[in-house]
Amino acid sequence: MRIKRNLITGGAGFLGSHLTDRLMEAGEEVICLDNYFTGIKSNVEKWIGHPSFELIRHDVTEPIRLEVDRIWHLACPASPVHYQFNPIKTAKTSFLGTYNMLGLARRVGARLLLASTSEVYGDPEIHPQPESYRGCVNTIGVRSCYDEGKRIAETLCFDYKRMHETEIRVMRIFNTYGPRMLPDDGRVVSNFIVQALRGEPLTLYGDGEQTRSFCYVDDLINGMIRLMNCDQTGPINIGNPTEFTIRQLAELVREKINPNLQFIEKPLPQDDPMQRKPVINLANSVLGWQPKIALENGLDPTIEWFKSELEKSK
Ligand code: NAD
Ligand code: UDP
Repeated sequence: MRIKRNLITGGAGFLGSHLTDRLMEAGEEVICLDNYFTGIKSNVEKWIGHPSFELIRHDVTEPIRLEVDRIWHLACPASPVHYQFNPIKTAKTSFLGTYNMLGLARRVGARLLLASTSEVYGDPEIHPQPESYRGCVNTIGVRSCYDEGKRIAETLCFDYKRMHETEIRVMRIFNTYGPRMLPDDGRVVSNFIVQALRGEPLTLYGDGEQTRSFCYVDDLINGMIRLMNCDQTGPINIGNPTEFTIRQLAELVREKINPNLQFIEKPLPQDDPMQRKPVINLANSVLGWQPKIALENGLDPTIEWFKSELEKSK
């Protein structure tokens, strides 16, 4: 079989760079496209110069012509701090970026996988969340640029499928963590680990009783590759269904790094979802996928990564 040509948008980011590693290690060709808003070259540095690897600085809000078989469309800031930095740009990235990539997929007959999100469920009224749940999203709040952006991105995918028979795969990703998250990324796992390593108090937003379900990056990438290779369009939830309160996460990180640290409470951000946990029966039955790495174990390599990053920046 011919070697696959993959385009990974957002390829220099957290998830994109892990996906790059996996596809390169499998002997495939990878074009990594990024505008470096939240991605960094060092995430994919080891592949620069490899004959099967290309790195392109490009913004997905502009069209691009490339010959590829598969488009892994990940380009979009994922952390609330970053996607709220310029919310209009976030909405443009979600809509125009997905539109441009679907246009490319249609032109060259490529299959496109959209990295959608559990945020399409908003602050959910049903718990846990199956794919059939249509969500409870505030259309005018500070998270809307991202949540509604991903919702219209999903819509575009399905309209391209209906109108042009474009091959699409829609993946709803739940909170994922691991090495290569940015230390200043603002997401909870990176915040707690960096605060603990610096000997600072851990910042609980609200009372810390809101919940999330954390998936280790290797598990997530396994699910992503299985979805791209299967014959289902989705949407499919990929996430770890073991649910934790944010306070429990803080306790776990504190226990692993420095049991003497304090917690401080800060105001809960607007529209912060109170609970989140995926139903993964579909991923299990159609992809044969389930996460294998418990939070307890996935935190160790993540802490090691942040330790070495903080050492480097000293
Ligand atoms: P990330 O911020 O590390 O990666 C996003 C990448 O996209 C970065 O490299 C950034 O520079 C790039 N990018 C942003 N806007 C761009 C643009 N206009 N043109 C080109 N490149 C652009 O985030 P991540 O955690 O790796 O997330 C990757 C994808 O997965 C995102 O689409 C995100 O919405 C989705 N997702 C992630 C999570 C998670 O927990 N990590 C959860 C749900 C969904
Ligand atoms: N959070 C927190 N302290 C922090 C960062 C985040 O308590 O320093 C909370 C945040 O309010 C949310 C949860 O942790 O309830 C997950 O936040 P994150 O930004 O990681 O992801 P998302 O809200 O998009 O799931």
